[in-house]
Amino acid sequence: MSDLDERTVGDLRIRIDRTLCVGFGDCVTEAPEAFVLDDTGTAIFVNPDKVERERLLRACDVCPVDAITVWDGSGAQIIPPS
Ligand code: SF4
Repeated sequence: MSDLDERTVGDLRIRIDRTLCVGFGDCVTEAPEAFVLDDTGTAIFVNPDKVERERLLRACDVCPVDAITVWDGSGAQIIPPS
C-alpha cells in the first residue's frame, strides 16, 4: 500500500494521506463501509461507494489531522476547507 490511497466516488475524488493518519478511527466510526484500519493501524478504503454522499463527506471531514482530502467534480477542494 502506498502512502496515498485515492478513490473516485461519483463526482468526488477522495485521498487518504496515510503518512498523516494517526489511526484514531473517527472516519471508520462514521462510515465503516468506506474505511478500515489496516494491520498497521492506518486507514485504507474499503467500499466508499457504498456510503451515501453526505455521510461519506462527514466521515472525511471528521478526521482530526486532515489526512483525508476531498475534491468535487470541478476539482475544487472541499475537505478540509481551504
Ligand atoms: S479519521 Fe483520519 S486519522 Fe483517524 S483513522 Fe481516519 S484517516 Fe486516520
